[in-house]
Amino acid sequence: MARPTSATIHTDALRHNLSQVRHRAPNSRVMAVVKADGYGHGLERVARALSGADAFGVAALSDAERLRAAGLSQPIVLLSGFDEVQDIPQLRRLNVETVIHHSSQLAMLEQALPGDPVRCWLKVDSGMHRLGFAPEDVRDAHARLRAMPAVADDIVLMNHLASSDAFGSQQTQEQLRIFAEATAGLPGVRSLANSAAVLGWPESHLDWVRPGGALYGISVVEGTSGLDFGLRPVMTLATRLIAVNRVRKGERIGYSATWECPEDMPVGVAAIGYGDGYPRNVPAGTPVLVNGAPAGIVGRVSMDLMTIDLRSQPDARTGDPVVLWGEGLPVEVIAAAADTIGYEPVCSITRRVRFIEA
Ligand SMILES: *Cc1c(COP(=O)(O)O)cnc(C)c1O
Repeated sequence: MARPTSATIHTDALRHNLSQVRHRAPNSRVMAVVKADGYGHGLERVARALSGADAFGVAALSDAERLRAAGLSQPIVLLSGFDEVQDIPQLRRLNVETVIHHSSQLAMLEQALPGDPVRCWLKVDSGMHRLGFAPEDVRDAHARLRAMPAVADDIVLMNHLASSDAFGSQQTQEQLRIFAEATAGLPGVRSLANSAAVLGWPESHLDWVRPGGALYGISVVEGTSGLDFGLRPVMTLATRLIAVNRVRKGERIGYSATWECPEDMPVGVAAIGYGDGYPRNVPAGTPVLVNGAPAGIVGRVSMDLMTIDLRSQPDARTGDPVVLWGEGLPVEVIAAAADTIGYEPVCSITRRVRFIEA
């Protein structure tokens, strides 16, 4: 029998979430961020389902190559920008727009051979201090770009928000102010908002919003799930019980014997573990759904398997379905138990998991 572990990708939920984003940012164009293989959901599959988006955002030129090979003709933006001179002809060949965040990129563009003008998204560092030009250097960078024959005239102005998941945060207000000052009077459309800003910072929406997680139905706002914002989970990770055992009171379960049975009890074994991308570090009691009802993990998650307290489901049998996250169990709950955000588990699914499109 094939391993029963699967990730079902609900493409109707992707479309629903895109329409929710449009509803919340009605005057903005939407760049669907599909980096990291569509947040682990499958790049081509996600992009086809989201072909109604106005552009795609990727982190690697190879992803742009895949999107073009799949026949997608929307604008594509390389969010981390290009790294070397040889990337410039690739940008032109694939008709990919690029973020410009560093003076080394200006120098490479100045030396570029004549050819189709490349559209640039000039990134301002308004306080996240990852990528971008310092506010005082933005005008000079903009003027240099405008003077280059290799660069298209319609330069976009953008930044990235560090704390938009904390609605009302001082840092976001500060970043909005710094960006507005650094770009005041410069021509061009503007783009600031990631998913959390789409959900909680309407003043940041401007001309282009750039949601990733929200399209996959995932919220990074602490204590919430996408459902709280009208989003639907896109991925359902599921497997089956491959054994149900009765274990006696006082016996210990799994590696390092971390969990002791408080009474004689049924323990289910499900065919999923960290080798499939399920986080190893979740504590006992982290929920799964067995036959649609909650049950708690006991003992350590191992590479191929996990063990489940079935006292609430004495009739559960080998072959019964187990849902790890998806409809009825938000991935945000599992992520919180693993001390991370919902994006990480969905990006971590490994290749042995079968993907099903629904
Ligand atoms: C990843 C990324 C986004 C999307 O962030 P989400 O929180 O997933 O919405 C937007 N803009 C940039 C520059 C990014 O790198």
